[in-house]
Amino acid sequence: MYLRPFDPWKSKLCTCPFKYTLNIYTGCDHACVYCYITSYIPRAFQVRTKEGLLPGLEKELRKLDKRFIIALSYSSDPYPTIDRELKITRKVLELFKRYNIRCLLLTKSSLFERDLDILKELKCAVGITVTTVDSKKAKLLEPNAPDPLKRIRALKMAKKEGIPVYARIDPIIPFYTWGDFEKTLNALSFVSHITVSTLKLRPDSWRRMQAKFPELMEKLSPLYEKGDKIGGYYYLPREFRFQILKEAREKIERRGITFGSCREGYYSYPSCDASHLVP
Ligand code: SF4
Repeated sequence: MYLRPFDPWKSKLCTCPFKYTLNIYTGCDHACVYCYITSYIPRAFQVRTKEGLLPGLEKELRKLDKRFIIALSYSSDPYPTIDRELKITRKVLELFKRYNIRCLLLTKSSLFERDLDILKELKCAVGITVTTVDSKKAKLLEPNAPDPLKRIRALKMAKKEGIPVYARIDPIIPFYTWGDFEKTLNALSFVSHITVSTLKLRPDSWRRMQAKFPELMEKLSPLYEKGDKIGGYYYLPREFRFQILKEAREKIERRGITFGSCREGYYSYPSCDASHLVP
């Protein structure tokens, strides 16, 4: 089974409509410090291909109820570095075209630029994640992902091609990327929808953050120690978190962009995941 019903660890705060998810690769080499897949995927930062993916997926697509969206991808990135050479994601998109699949693509790469000719013919919304437009900070947080400004340029090209576009500012890290929020928003002001999410830590991402950002974690650790533990994640204290979300929502909606929040128990409209943009 390559397609799986999306189920974010049965989180009681997830508000996603029913959809499928497909991880074209196992693992992701963007190697983000805050990444959560390391808690359930062994050697998560080493990308592996999946045997028999294309013929197996084609069989599943033939039988799929075409009303439902397939999301690429939540436990990996559809465009890891090796896809430049292997082009497997392009072949998956060709299958989506053949079977008239509705698709929600989310990436931290700019490589989707290469596939715009197919993406514009699909029932697809394309999104990028940008935690900050500060290239230096992004390099520390997401060492192997293309520069955020490159991602944004690629997304502008997608919009020019008539593709519905959205973004995630996720995670928002207090005392770090939260300070750049306004600038990040300005660079993304052309998108239709933005989903935000505050930093949620698992024990292993907490350790990585601690090793890479000891000074920042001196401020963050006491907050997370006081905060809630929901679905295996450490959250910021609710009041602190909701203050950030409220400010983010005001800034986003003021720009005429719709607002979503992910696993926060907060507000989203018209959807938390931008699925309303998929034709
Ligand atoms: S892009 Fe996503 S899946 Fe890949 S390392 Fe970063 S957070 Fe993890």
